Amino acid sequence: MSEQSQVQIAILKNDPEHLILDIVGQSAPIVNALRRVLIADVPTVAVETVLIQNNTSVIPDEILAHRLGLIPLNIDPSLLQYKKPEDQRTWENTVVFKLKVQCTAKKNANVGLDDKFKYNNSQVLSSDFVWVPEGGQQELFKDKAPAPVIPDILIAKLGPKQEIDIELHAIKGCGKTHAKWSPVCTSTYRLLPEIILKRPITGIAARYLQQTCPLNVFDIEEIKGKYQPDDVDDEEDEEQEDQQQKRVMEMDKDTKKHNVGTQCVVKRPRNCSMCRECIRGAWQEKIKDPQKREKVENAVELTRAKDYYIFSVESTGVLTSSTLMTNAFDILIEKLEKIKQLLIQHK
Ligand code: SF4
Repeated sequence: MSEQSQVQIAILKNDPEHLILDIVGQSAPIVNALRRVLIADVPTVAVETVLIQNNTSVIPDEILAHRLGLIPLNIDPSLLQYKKPEDQRTWENTVVFKLKVQCTAKKNANVGLDDKFKYNNSQVLSSDFVWVPEGGQQELFKDKAPAPVIPDILIAKLGPKQEIDIELHAIKGCGKTHAKWSPVCTSTYRLLPEIILKRPITGIAARYLQQTCPLNVFDIEEIKGKYQPDDVDDEEDEEQEDQQQKRVMEMDKDTKKHNVGTQCVVKRPRNCSMCRECIRGAWQEKIKDPQKREKVENAVELTRAKDYYIFSVESTGVLTSSTLMTNAFDILIEKLEKIKQLLIQHK
């Protein structure tokens, strides 16, 4: 089997907003390249130009323009052309929105009420964006009218008679130019944690270890038919035993041996945050018998699987997370192909 064919991918979660993949057998530079392409090279559409006719709100023009740029828009970037700074604005490279909101007092509203009830339009929300179709855009966007992805993003609060009157021009771009075009909230990977129990941890020690982990990585399992000498703990510990632990103390009438034992097992390693609580030894100090304590000292080892990546992509909602991933693969392949062609030309 070639090295390439050993790469495995498993999809653990595939929501429109969140994709989690297990990538096994790949090298870190390739996985990191994919992450960086997702952040910086997958194009989206965002507000680039803000023409302010009137802004009497308390938010300065520059801050308002910055906030408007960061609002994710549901526009498919493949439907628009790139617009360079020297290019003219056309319906093929720019989507225009209007934002015109004025705050007015409601008639007969109680004085003590919240602003929302006393005034009309006391909050300017992303749902106040009004798309202004130009040229052939009605046909181009017939499946989905351009609008903010989330309708209730708060842009500004207005007092009575304050007004915002703005025209917005949205264009296609990439995250490497400005973060507002980045299609992901986060794109991360981490190596799968490996928690190795170098010796069996049984009885009350197993329970102490399980309880010390804040992320529920360990479970306690029964080991039937085995004599577990470590399960016999001193009297004080025995009093703390829960119902499950009491079963450990039951003796088989014929063999005079414990017929049920318990031991700690690593059950959910991907939960592990590498907090190191399990190797710090606080749980071992709870064991009163020094001999038993010695047996479990340094029994836990923390490491990471060498080529097992947990890859996570959270979309801003502009495109589904799985579409972002496939776009990222296409862009990465295209980049590599360009480099290959350049090398061939210079041979
Ligand atoms: S490092 Fe922390 S989270 Fe991971 S297994 Fe140990 S205690 Fe649990």
